[in-house]
Formats: sequence, C-alpha cells, structure tokens
Amino acid sequence: MGAHPIRKEIQPPPVQNALKDQEPGAVLEPADTLRQVAPDIHATYGVIGVIDELNRGFNGNAYFVETGEGVVVIDSLGSPRLGRRWIETIRSHTDEPISYLILTHNHPDHSFGAIAFRQWTDATIIAHPGTERYLRSTPFEESVAFRKSLLGGDFAEFEPVAPDRTVDRPAFDGPLAIELGGQVLHIYNVGRHHSFGDLVVHMPERGITFVSDLYFQNRTTYMADGDLGHYFRAHQLVSRTLDTRLMIPGHGVAQKGPPFPMREKTVSYVRRLRDMMKEAVNGMIPLAEAVDRAEGAFPAWEETALFEENHRKNANFAYREMEQEVLFGED
Ligand SMILES: [Zn+2]
Repeated sequence: MGAHPIRKEIQPPPVQNALKDQEPGAVLEPADTLRQVAPDIHATYGVIGVIDELNRGFNGNAYFVETGEGVVVIDSLGSPRLGRRWIETIRSHTDEPISYLILTHNHPDHSFGAIAFRQWTDATIIAHPGTERYLRSTPFEESVAFRKSLLGGDFAEFEPVAPDRTVDRPAFDGPLAIELGGQVLHIYNVGRHHSFGDLVVHMPERGITFVSDLYFQNRTTYMADGDLGHYFRAHQLVSRTLDTRLMIPGHGVAQKGPPFPMREKTVSYVRRLRDMMKEAVNGMIPLAEAVDRAEGAFPAWEETALFEENHRKNANFAYREMEQEVLFGED
C-alpha cells in the first residue's frame, strides 16, 4: 500500500471510533469525526500523522461556532476536497450562513481548503498579514506541488486564497474583535512562532482559547518555519493574558484546565531544545554534532507522531537561531 499505517493509540478518540467502523482503504471524512466540544462549538478531528493517500491531508482539526446569526469557522482543512466536505458537514448541521472563516495559520493542513470557502460560501476570510508573503514563498509552491502529485483530483480546484481581511494588529498586541449573534471572538496576531504568521482566537466571555499549533499533544512540533523568540512571546501572551478554561488545539483533543498538559509539554520541549542548542553554540560544538546529541535526548517525544520528520529539523533550526543570537544579539 505504501501509506503510513495509522498509529491508532495516539489518535483523538473520535478518529479511533471512526476508523473502527471503516471499510479497509476507505477515506476518513470530516463528518465522521464531528463532535461538540462546548455549547455551540463543534470540532472535526483529523488524523495525527503525516499526509498520505489514505488520510488525504486530513491531518488537523477544524472548528465552527454557531452564533445564532451566522457561523464562524476556524480553519479550512487540508485540500479543496476536504474544504468542500467541511462546508457540507457544517451545512448539514446548521442553517445559519457561514459568515467568517478564520485561518489560524497558513500551513497546508489548516488552510489549503480555503478555496472551497471562497467558491461555495460568502464567508469573510480572515488571516494573518504574513499570508501574502507565504503565498509568494518557495515552501508554499513546494507544498502545493507535492500535494497535487500525491492527491491528484483532490487538488484540481486549488488556488491560493488572499484573505478579505488581515489581523493588521502589531504582533503580541491587542486583538481584532468579531461580534456576531451573542458571541465575541478576539483574534490575536501571535507573530511567527510556527509559520509565516500565526493567530490565536479567544472567546473572552467563555474562557475558551483556540491555540492552533502553539501547543501540541501526541505530535512533535515543527519550529523551522517560524521564529524562536516569537514562540516564547506568543506563549507569554496566551498564558498570562488570556483567561483560558478550555484550550482547543489544532491537533488532538481540547483540554480543560489549568493546568494544560499540552502546554507544559510543548513549552518544555521547545525550551529544552533551545537551551541545549544555545549551550552547544556557546561551547563551539559543531552543528552536526549538536543535532546528533539532541536526537537521543528527548526519549519522551520519540513516541509522538512526526518525531522522526521534525525533531532533527527543529534542532538544526534552533542551533542556527542561537548562532544568530550569539553573533548579533537578541532582537
Ligand atoms: Zn498544524
């Protein structure tokens, strides 16, 4: 078959359940994993793992909030086909119009379904101002080409989608607010901690925070598109200023807290990797050796998805950022 076998034990329970009833080789659809996470808020859960022919890019979660006057969707899933299925899932659940699509960041698993929202809804699409630079970047071109060759027809209608509105607030500053029906959503620009531009969505009256890919569970983070300094600033903003009782991630299941294990684990990983690489740079240990040392130093993370794909790249990236910091100082 060639595809990665799905590691069932690390999947969100809705994915595990859907896979149990599935015919071999069948494709997991957004409707199969739809669940309520809080009153008026639904999630669809993707497969935790890398893209392959079976999961067809359904590797992240997406959410929608019913406000009584319109639906606010958070993330579009990973392909035009999945975006279309996601819209159908929302429409079979509610008659409210789809008013907004917020793209938490531009990584393919979250944003490559956006064209379906452009084509099939009147939603106002909101994204980070970094989207423009991303859509002209090599990583964008490579991601599109790879997915077209792997997924064929799923990508037939793909087009880059420029947002109708960007969160044009300075990074780590106050939010862009949306009020619809009875619900208030604050959208924060949290810099480039993980991608060309990242957002966090907070519902201040309900203590709900959609953290997207700031914190992970069962999955090793990917740091190399972002900025390490921004990571800690984003974490500070979210942990110190946003009242959070329910934390809703881009991958995996929501957690009630505090404490939030996904936050503690991810931050400790990033912090430790940064400290190791800083020590290596200061100790004049060459890059390759430092990365090799980091490889075996995170045994707890070896069991998570994407460790093999991401960990060495993260170590490499952290080393180079620390090198810049030592040479040029912190910005
Ligand atoms: Zn993601």
